[in-house]
Amino acid sequence: MAGFRQELVGVFGQPVEENPTQPMVEAAFVAAGLDWRYLTIAVAPEALADAVRGARAMGFRGFNCTIPHKVAVVEHLDRLSEAASLIGAVNCVVREGDRLLGENTDGAGFLAALRRRRDPDGARVVLLGAGGAARAIAVELALAGAGSITVVNRGSERGRELGALLERLVPEVAIDSPGDGFRVPAGTDLVVNATSIGLYPDVEAAVPLVLDEVAAAALVADVIPNPPETRLLREAAALGCETLDGLEMLVEQGRIGFELWTGVEADTGVMRAALRRAFGLF
Ligand code: NDP
Repeated sequence: MAGFRQELVGVFGQPVEENPTQPMVEAAFVAAGLDWRYLTIAVAPEALADAVRGARAMGFRGFNCTIPHKVAVVEHLDRLSEAASLIGAVNCVVREGDRLLGENTDGAGFLAALRRRRDPDGARVVLLGAGGAARAIAVELALAGAGSITVVNRGSERGRELGALLERLVPEVAIDSPGDGFRVPAGTDLVVNATSIGLYPDVEAAVPLVLDEVAAAALVADVIPNPPETRLLREAAALGCETLDGLEMLVEQGRIGFELWTGVEADTGVMRAALRRAFGLF
């Protein structure tokens, strides 16, 4: 019996039937021998302030925030990391004594996965999307020294907003729209799909990027965690490009949150296997 000393973290979000991050994080607790729980908690937008107060009152070690709380949670926290502050959104909250720190591990997860393959310093990047994931990735790439970022987004307003933020951080910034298909220029080092195009069940939806001119030396990444092998990544691999999938990004963001909460190194092999099982991948 775990009793009174069991530690709690969780995720505040919309009602979900299944939350794949719960088995991933709980598998990591078991692997680390920690008697902790990660709870999936549906929180309505108007109840967010009470939910955060509740987490403080109940001594939660922290929590993740998902849609629709990533921006709204900011005003209920005591401090933000530099990246979370620039992104303007928090997906991971960490208790420090009686204070709550807001972090954004979406972009950090992407960057950690990327760094295992490439150094982003000086990279010429084409980023499709300007929503939450794109913003988080763009800020982390900027802080890591990306040389240029071209933001390609369907909606011009969000594209312009992200472009304006990046202009303060990156030597070269351009904004474009995908139209029928944005032709990624030769010389691009990193191509990222940071939209929801390709997410299960719309797995054959085409990402509006034309890769003909992209050299095999480029790396093509996709934020879509399920299925990890997206149509975009299949096409990129056929051109000889190295690829990075969204499942790896999700594992890394989970690892970073786990380590911030517990101070213990996470077993990413166990986390990856749990996530793949949750997605029905084996
Ligand atoms: P948002 O709703 O904030 O943004 C969605 C983005 O996708 C916008 O740029 C939107 O463009 C674009 N978009 C959506 N549909 C289309 C389309 N048919 N054609 C062109 N552009 C389109 O979502 P998030 O940024 O929060 O999430 C995006 C994806 O990232 C989700 O699928 C999510 O699962 C994934 N994600 C993965 C993570 C991981 O760890 N692997 C972490 C976080 C997110 P517009 O502005 O024009 O609407």
